[in-house]
Amino acid sequence: MLLPDYVRRCVDALESAGFAAYAVGGCVRDACLGLTPQDYDLCTSALPEETERVFSGHRLVLAGKKHGTVAVVTEGGIVEITTFRTEGDYTDSRHPGWVRFVPDIEADLARRDFTVNAMAFSPSRGFADPFGGRADLEHRVLRAVGDPATRFEEDALRILRGVRFAVKYGLTVEEKTMDAMLRLAPTMDKLARERVFEELCKLLVLVTPEDLLRFAPILASVIPELGPMIGFDQRSPHHAYDLFTHTARVCGNLPPTLTLRWAGLLHDTGKIPTFTQDETGRGHFYGHAKASAQMADDILRRLKAPTALREEVTGLIELHMTKLPPEKKVLRRWLGRLGPEAMDTLLTFQQADFGGKGTGLPEEAEEFPRLRVIVGEIQAENACLSLKDLAVNGRDLMDLGFEGKAIGACLQRLLDLVIDEKIPNERDALLAEAGRSAQ
Ligand code: ATP
Ligand code: MG
Repeated sequence: MLLPDYVRRCVDALESAGFAAYAVGGCVRDACLGLTPQDYDLCTSALPEETERVFSGHRLVLAGKKHGTVAVVTEGGIVEITTFRTEGDYTDSRHPGWVRFVPDIEADLARRDFTVNAMAFSPSRGFADPFGGRADLEHRVLRAVGDPATRFEEDALRILRGVRFAVKYGLTVEEKTMDAMLRLAPTMDKLARERVFEELCKLLVLVTPEDLLRFAPILASVIPELGPMIGFDQRSPHHAYDLFTHTARVCGNLPPTLTLRWAGLLHDTGKIPTFTQDETGRGHFYGHAKASAQMADDILRRLKAPTALREEVTGLIELHMTKLPPEKKVLRRWLGRLGPEAMDTLLTFQQADFGGKGTGLPEEAEEFPRLRVIVGEIQAENACLSLKDLAVNGRDLMDLGFEGKAIGACLQRLLDLVIDEKIPNERDALLAEAGRSAQ
């Protein structure tokens, strides 16, 4: 394994001072897979004060010193250097009760979550791989270090991390590890919501529909609203798949942005509470877009998602059933209301939703490219789409004698007329029209 110069220099500095130093964790895993590591973490026998002394000529970040981490700012980037440590006494599936520094690398590797993450490498000492991480990588297996259940009881977030690593690197989860993941998934309710949310975000942008199906019960443990959707027969001629399979197909096929993926995952949650059957037995979900938006709002609040993301996701879900006709006048209105970016997102979403049904006719699928062409034409025309594009403003109306709310109402009416092509967006025409309504 080749370490970049700036990392190598850190290892050498520690070794020259008489300490053992290794690259460890994700960077070793990625290098073994032939991938370029995103960052390099080091571990060392040096105590934090000793590391500080070795790098006294550098700028250091000491926020993690209590837990053994000294971050060294180098010309190549920040290198986190952590003293070999072990930890234990988890009482709440999330916090180690204690952290203890230890002299050897093996004890440090033993506290890590999965064998593929429990490898270290030193240019002078070679690989430290006491749990067979390299063999597991070769066989594409994800395996917990030590007894899986114990490890997930210590920190339940490891369950979701495991899902992410399995998905990211195409690993099969070893049987005992998988059993423990499934059995202990409900204990993730004790985790800090922020940690769960962050991990879910990392996962959602990686998953395929098959991944979502494979790990559905684990996802349903952290988002209980998904549980009843698994295997739910929609009893609808529009749907070839059960509700969760449809959800997985939509979510996993969307472009990997957080807004689209979260919306994909949650867009049909409201189908469960709105489900009805008519006398023929056919299923209906009247009002489910609104219900789903409300549920998504609850879920994302619970997970402490950032407000901007929550609002984008719920906005998209609320509109996901809104039929956009291929008519310029109507699309102009939507474009004015949503703006070009959200309009594009909505079309992308609706297309993926359609693709996830598994029943649509080819001519229906052609609708989306057509809508995009029209939206493109509207944008190319530089059309007047919103109040700020109007050739008159509130001041102009005040000069005509409008006051208070009447100003906004009149501007809106003028905009409607312009969008409907009843009057041109020209100052004189607009003032004349406003003047007429003032009388
Ligand atoms: P990524 O590519 O996501 O950064 P990573 O393996 O580097 O993957 P980090 O979260 O950066 O993951 O953690 C670095 C290392 O620390 C991991 O490889 C693993 O050995 C260990 N680790 C991190 N979180 C945990 C945890 N919750 N339980 C046990 N070990 C952990
Ligand atoms: Mg990392």
